[in-house]
Amino acid sequence: MKDIPSNIQPLARKAWIPIVEEGDGEPAASKFSGTPFLAEGQTWPACPNCGKPMQLFLQLNLDKLPDPARGEFGKGILQMFYCTSANPLCEDQCEAYFPFAKSALLRIIQLTGNAGRIEIPEIEGRFPPKLITGWKEVDDYPNYEEIEEQGVELTEEESDEWSEQEFPRAGDKLGGWPHWVQGVEYPDCPTCGERMRLVFQIDSEDNLPYMFGDVGCGHITQCRTHKDQLAFGWACS
Ligand SMILES: [Zn+2]
Ligand SMILES: [Zn+2]
Repeated sequence: MKDIPSNIQPLARKAWIPIVEEGDGEPAASKFSGTPFLAEGQTWPACPNCGKPMQLFLQLNLDKLPDPARGEFGKGILQMFYCTSANPLCEDQCEAYFPFAKSALLRIIQLTGNAGRIEIPEIEGRFPPKLITGWKEVDDYPNYEEIEEQGVELTEEESDEWSEQEFPRAGDKLGGWPHWVQGVEYPDCPTCGERMRLVFQIDSEDNLPYMFGDVGCGHITQCRTHKDQLAFGWACS
């Protein structure tokens, strides 16, 4: 592993970069935007703040993730919906940069029974769908703050050198270490109080034509024990 200091190498984690193509695919496919899987009787989620349908940002078929991410985050279909209404500006009104904001919906639904007939609502500025057709496995490393949390002491020089590195990786990715724009901001699980861990990083204008504040970066996190406890938060500089 060239250029990775020997004391940081043990902190390597796998991350997976989504490989995408234009299009929607099956309802249960992993995708950005497009048509979500809905069970029979389920309707497209509406924002509790403005009443308008939220956009599907990401859907992951957890049973089809690359090994060993498959099974790690639970079973079924993970979905993230996020309100992009500009009037009212739900992102501001609901402080959607914080985890557990009401204008974002994160959930895992099970592929039991029949898929419902999906009524696709009118959404202003709806993003074009991108189907995730594969994953590119890469190595990822934490930022200096998390390196120190892991008990690895860096000198000031090492810390400066590390901040010049491309790690943690920016852009959309599954797993790995969060590319924190501000400090380390994992939320705590509302059920058990444990720190939640990264599932997926959604960056500004990577696969989704969406900017979180001023080129912010967002993170879907999950409790390791309570897999239905999911959150999304973002920060920008
Ligand atoms: Zn809204
Ligand atoms: Zn928990």
